[in-house]
Amino acid sequence: MIYIPKHFSNSEFWNIKLMNPLTLYFIDTVRDAMGEITDFRFNTLSTNNPEDNHVKGSSHYDNRAVDYTISSKKLKKLTQNKKEADMFTLESLFSTLIKTRTSKMMGLGVYVNSKGYISYHTDYRSEPAKWMALGKNKNNEWNYVDFNYEKLKDHILTL
Ligand SMILES: [Zn+2]
Repeated sequence: MIYIPKHFSNSEFWNIKLMNPLTLYFIDTVRDAMGEITDFRFNTLSTNNPEDNHVKGSSHYDNRAVDYTISSKKLKKLTQNKKEADMFTLESLFSTLIKTRTSKMMGLGVYVNSKGYISYHTDYRSEPAKWMALGKNKNNEWNYVDFNYEKLKDHILTL
């Protein structure tokens, strides 16, 4: 069975034909529901390219994961700063995962780089998981930490 996303084009994936159909369905469903909130746009960063750099055994190599950023021009105008917009985006993503009933079959990773910019990872899996990573170490590997909302908030760039 193949799934043709409504909100993603083929060019947003390394090879969409290899992508797990349920992964595509989930991310498309989430993007669809998020879009209703305030015109959110998902921009893929990494999908299933076997040459992309991920941790060993990553679900990316199994065609089940997508990394992306979320932006909204409308939200930018409605909020005072980047942090406020990012926190609203994060809250909207969390509630959308619950609303669309995808949260129970998804891994969600929230990444904040050393400059305070946020990106997301979602994958299809049988047991749900949630984690975050703050910056990278000297070997250019993400620093994974237990999910902590306050800590996450501290690392997001305010601007
Ligand atoms: Zn990822």
